[in-house]
Amino acid sequence: MSDPTLDISGLTKAYNHGLPNEVQVLQGASLTVQPGEIVALVAPSGAGKSTLLHIAGLLDTPDQGTVTIRGEDMTNLSDRRRTAVRRATVGFIYQFHHLLPEFTALENIVLPQLANGVPDKDAEARALDLLGRVGVAERATHRPAALSGGEQQRVAFCRALANEPSLLLADEPTGNLDPETSDRVFDALMALVRDKGLAAVIATHNLELAARMDRQVRLTGGALEAA
Ligand code: ADP
Repeated sequence: MSDPTLDISGLTKAYNHGLPNEVQVLQGASLTVQPGEIVALVAPSGAGKSTLLHIAGLLDTPDQGTVTIRGEDMTNLSDRRRTAVRRATVGFIYQFHHLLPEFTALENIVLPQLANGVPDKDAEARALDLLGRVGVAERATHRPAALSGGEQQRVAFCRALANEPSLLLADEPTGNLDPETSDRVFDALMALVRDKGLAAVIATHNLELAARMDRQVRLTGGALEAA
């Protein structure tokens, strides 16, 4: 069997070490995600979902524990190598789209590819293909401000997938949308992730959306358990 896409083991993380306001957020969180598997991360606000996703996505480091991506232990890597692995392997989606306002939808998906050395024409073709898959190809030349909330978030999905990651991490990706839009945008995300065969960890507090993923884990008391 191939290596898991993501394996996190025994993660601990506290903020404000040694101060009266120290918060122990993670206390031995472990999770293994296989290629093509979509895992719902369920927890109330403040439980530590963002902290966990940032550590899993190499944007932050744990106090203890290991993060292994496609068989490579990230613990003792140089910052440079961690950044290279993150750029090549991980796609991130946030609750708010964070698109660059002065660029069009298409450009927002092209730019990260250019930064990764993809030639112009290929980057543009891939961006258009992705936009088509989530149903916003006809909005390619619009800037974010001219898009609806659901469209902005679909473009953010495309941007997260622009550099062909093998792991997608999403932090309440439809949490900012009204329920009906959220359902449709979530459908688009699931179709895209399944189609690309990505491993994904998608944080949500919407139990109906969670039930549509392959399995659910709950973050409680700083650890993960099957939900
Ligand atoms: P969630 O994403 O589940 O809402 P977070 O991971 O954002 O949870 O936060 C978990 C806890 O850690 C919260 O109590 C939050 O206030 C605290 N926290 C998060 N980031 C920091 C930080 N940089 N400094 C201090 N406390 C933080």
